[in-house]
Amino acid sequence: MKRVDLSAEQVRDLQGMVSGKVSTNESVLDQHSHDESAFPPVKPSAVVPVASTLEVSRVLAYCNVHGIPVVAYGAGTSLEGHVVPLYGGISLDLSGMNKILEVSPDDLLVRVEAGVTRMALNVKLASDGLFFSVDPGADATLGGMAATGAAGTTTVRYGSMRENVMALTAVLADGTVIATGRGTRKLSAGYDLTRLIVGSEGTLAIITELTLRLFGIPEKMAAAVVRFPTLNDGVAAATAIVRSGISIARCEFLDAQCIRNLNAYDKMSMPEEPTLFFEFHGSPKGVIEDANAVKELIEDFNGSAFEWTSEESERRKLWQARHNAHWAAVAAHPGMRTVSTDMAVPLSKLSAAVAMTQETLARHRFPFSILGHVADGNYHCQIITDPANPTERDEIREIVHAITMEIIAMGGTCTGEHGIGAGKIEALEAEIGTEGVAVMRAIKKSLDPHWILNPGKIFLA
Ligand SMILES: Cc1cc2nc3c(=O)[nH]c(=O)nc-3n(C[C@H](O)[C@H](O)[C@H](O)COP(=O)(O)OP(=O)(O)OC[C@H]3O[C@@H](n4cnc5c(N)ncnc54)[C@H](O)[C@@H]3O)c2cc1C
Repeated sequence: MKRVDLSAEQVRDLQGMVSGKVSTNESVLDQHSHDESAFPPVKPSAVVPVASTLEVSRVLAYCNVHGIPVVAYGAGTSLEGHVVPLYGGISLDLSGMNKILEVSPDDLLVRVEAGVTRMALNVKLASDGLFFSVDPGADATLGGMAATGAAGTTTVRYGSMRENVMALTAVLADGTVIATGRGTRKLSAGYDLTRLIVGSEGTLAIITELTLRLFGIPEKMAAAVVRFPTLNDGVAAATAIVRSGISIARCEFLDAQCIRNLNAYDKMSMPEEPTLFFEFHGSPKGVIEDANAVKELIEDFNGSAFEWTSEESERRKLWQARHNAHWAAVAAHPGMRTVSTDMAVPLSKLSAAVAMTQETLARHRFPFSILGHVADGNYHCQIITDPANPTERDEIREIVHAITMEIIAMGGTCTGEHGIGAGKIEALEAEIGTEGVAVMRAIKKSLDPHWILNPGKIFLA
């Protein structure tokens, strides 16, 4: 595919279809040229802000006829080059579609526009004693989170976007508007188009509205921290806790380097050892029972004293620190960027997978740290790279690819939550085979025959 640059007339035509200002201003193009990954930026030819499903439909119908690539842009926090407009065209900015349309406390549902961010949604829901559970750390948009199939620290208890998106309004490449799913707890009506679009990374349709599942804010929340002499002890303890069936709301692993970075970034003084952060949700009595059960179990894995808090400000501080891990790694290496990897394995393979990853990375010269949603068998490495040195980036890509191939050989997946983007195209084929990719390609071709939606992501044209 060749890069597409818009003519002045095409920019004018698009301006006639939307209420916001279509921009070709360099700083706006720059802002839409990259995500939070270390992928080299590529500028779109124009940025088109949209304010309604109708505007999205008009813009897509036009781009489809004129062969203009369209890359949806939410908050730009994705980590595999997802929003980089590799072939130019337009960056379709959905961040202005930020209305919370309808909260239905009796149904535990909310209907939102795609540009609403998860933090803004939770501020609004708190007044009804409700919350939306999927928590990827970054303040991403709900459209972007659905498009990447996002998950996060609370997935072990409440599920990921795949379980929590009930229905969608989406616009196909030719401008056709479709409604998928219903606000019902059960549904067996034909092909599951909702889950086809969730995780499709803006390659099949543009999501404009979502109906999401909500939960009541638990009566009691408490957090705990436990340290381990080795990385393996910590990971083995986490998997034993999951197998035991004890109810945990969060269980996150951070290696000693992560803790060191956080101490510097958040001015904390945690012992610099492999650490598990836990959270428990429920009734005051239930939370204490769950925490005690975990406390007993970790003694078999050389865990330190169980530091426990039900103090709300302490609990918030701990999880804010966990969410700062990415920025703490960046801050520890000024001028550098992090390559954030993402893999998941069956629980029985987690200890071996993390040990293999650590040994492999330790053989190379790049600083790194390991952390993860270990109760889901999902973990990340933050590898530090110099953005001014493309050779270094290629070297890291090869190391990560080698680790990913081992993960796949162990029965794992190349991505538990970040998605394929431009970075895991080969890994996807290794994981599901050429036949599986051919089915995905056939679906893409039937919904987007001119290949205008986020070309160069998930698989090549
Ligand atoms: C510090 C940090 C921590 C993170 N932790 C996690 C984590 O724990 N779990 C996790 O899952 N992710 C994590 N991420 C990655 C990121 O937050 C998620 O991928 C998020 O879901 C992206 O949302 P966004 O709004 O930023 O989307 P963008 O980055 O803007 O877009 C992501 C993809 O979705 C497409 N897209 C965006 N909006 C739409 C739409 N309305 N319709 C169709 N396609 C659309 C884009 O074209 C692109 O392909 C983290 C990122 C950072 C920076």
